[in-house]
Amino acid sequence: MSFREKLARFFYGRYGSDKLNTFLLIVCIIILTVAMFLPVVPSYILRGLSVLVMGYCIFRIMSKNVDKRRRENAVFQKILFAVKSFFIRQFNRVRYIKKYRYRKCPGCKNHLRFPYKKGTHGVKCPKCGREFSIRL
Ligand SMILES: [Zn+2]
Repeated sequence: MSFREKLARFFYGRYGSDKLNTFLLIVCIIILTVAMFLPVVPSYILRGLSVLVMGYCIFRIMSKNVDKRRRENAVFQKILFAVKSFFIRQFNRVRYIKKYRYRKCPGCKNHLRFPYKKGTHGVKCPKCGREFSIRL
């Protein structure tokens, strides 16, 4: 058996890389970069931490439990999406402060955008249909 075949056989059925692994690698690089600028003891703690993160990364790539790794990645993507949306919302709040105001629906917690017009308004959530009033 050639080396290539052996390698292919070794990686067969293993999970490989995904977005969570990419993220873990970036975290690793950030930790190591920060560690360079720290005194000896905290630096070694961070280096140890980066070894752990890297180990988890390699474990995920080599894992044969594909379902579980996929679920981890799905949870990660969900969190990433929530964090991203949060920052985009904050940015838009400032950017469109003259035009719009943002409120949450008390029923479904959906984020809603209203044209800015001073006063109290009766509104209806387009997602769950709940009617409520807002003060702008
Ligand atoms: Zn709603």
